[in-house]
Amino acid sequence: MAKTYKQIFGLQRVRQIRPDSLFGSELIGLYTVLEKFMYKKYEASEIQNELSRVFHKQSKYWGQFISIHSTIGALRINEENTIVNIPVLEYANSEYNMGNQKPAEILLNYLLSEFQFPHPGLTSSKSETKTGQKLRYFKVVKPYISILSILNGLYENDRKECYLTHEEIYFIDKENESSEGEYLQINNTNKVIENILEQRGNKDYYSHEINTVVLKEIKNINGYLKGFLNNSVFLNFDKPSLEIPRGQFFCSLNFDIKNLFTEINSLINSSLSHYEFDPSISHNDRELKYYYSTYLLDENKINAFLTNLSTFDSNDFFISSGPNIKIQDFDKKKYDKYRVEYLLDKMESTDTTRRSKGRLEQQLLRKFYLYGKEHENCSICHDLFPITSLTIAHIKKRTHASDEERTDPNIVMPACYLGCDHLYEKGYLIAEDGKFKFNKKLDFEKYKLTDVIKSRIKIIDGNECINWENSRKYFESHRQLHQTN
Ligand SMILES: [Zn+2]
Repeated sequence: MAKTYKQIFGLQRVRQIRPDSLFGSELIGLYTVLEKFMYKKYEASEIQNELSRVFHKQSKYWGQFISIHSTIGALRINEENTIVNIPVLEYANSEYNMGNQKPAEILLNYLLSEFQFPHPGLTSSKSETKTGQKLRYFKVVKPYISILSILNGLYENDRKECYLTHEEIYFIDKENESSEGEYLQINNTNKVIENILEQRGNKDYYSHEINTVVLKEIKNINGYLKGFLNNSVFLNFDKPSLEIPRGQFFCSLNFDIKNLFTEINSLINSSLSHYEFDPSISHNDRELKYYYSTYLLDENKINAFLTNLSTFDSNDFFISSGPNIKIQDFDKKKYDKYRVEYLLDKMESTDTTRRSKGRLEQQLLRKFYLYGKEHENCSICHDLFPITSLTIAHIKKRTHASDEERTDPNIVMPACYLGCDHLYEKGYLIAEDGKFKFNKKLDFEKYKLTDVIKSRIKIIDGNECINWENSRKYFESHRQLHQTN
């Protein structure tokens, strides 16, 4: 039974999410490590190396790094694989490091209020319950908001009932799992409270339902939830003087907060929305993660959170970049191009058969220039063509190219089937000083000039080579090949 208790609202069993684990106290914070890579190309291995350096070769930090940053949307990578800076986090981190912990504390309270399950970037599409239900397809719940709502309701019922035990956390998590998220919907809170009170009314409940070994495991797993919930100013984890079975207490409310119930209710009411996502899209999808990050760490949302609650002073959270920072849209086309480039690069070092390599390489190069397009200009005559009338022409002959050159997108160019591909390949045209020119040293014995060829060359002669700088060495190689006589 205990072994089936794995889901605690999808929270990863990693280092707890707290200001000091993120921004650092005695240890360097995980976000501080990420900041070192800001504006750079995302390379997992480089970050892994840095983590082992900082944490003395403890490789487990990589899992923590990824999980924690995914939970709070901190690892935002754009379409060009560059790590994007997030001003809110930068601000909280720099304040924290200067000894002002307030912004980090407020931020963690805000993140708790947004904490949702399933999580778009963490709940894997493969993860399922024992009965085969797919967690990613569950109705979204906000565990922290639900817990506040339950405690609020328990208090209304009887002040002495305002607490939750480890076993009750276990129970609501299980119920939520078997109902695929229906159980912890806010409008079902009364039902949850009814169930809890019913169990408490059963005097034998704690003694027969769960033995001490199982309880130990439950408490252990609840520790990860507690680690995150601990950031809440509204919850209290010190056992109050209530008659709760020994070792069972999980949490209650923090009665030191001014206007506690008004505050809790306004938090509940303003936290009813969540991030809608298509569960068929992988949790690793970079575009989804990018948009979740921009949704979660939206400065306007944090400002609204501060405005709704009087517990936090908005003067304690000042975002210097202003409330309307423009976040660029994720450029899918650029991303596809990047991925093709990455695959080409990877292909260079992989050991596939020569034939399949050549075919794959040709497909990837075509994708690099034409993917997702209907039309493109011919690089030589500059006329617009449907992509079916364009080929990916080699600037330098493929057979003369090294393995490394073959996977360089600059070795090819889109050229039209209506003459340009042929005229360039046979050497009627060469490129020199950034321009296409008639090749005066052509082997005229072999390649005859007729009027139609002459007039076609005349049109092209002097056209610019758009990608000249990057493709220069390949154009040179082609020119030398056709001008050796
Ligand atoms: Zn053309």
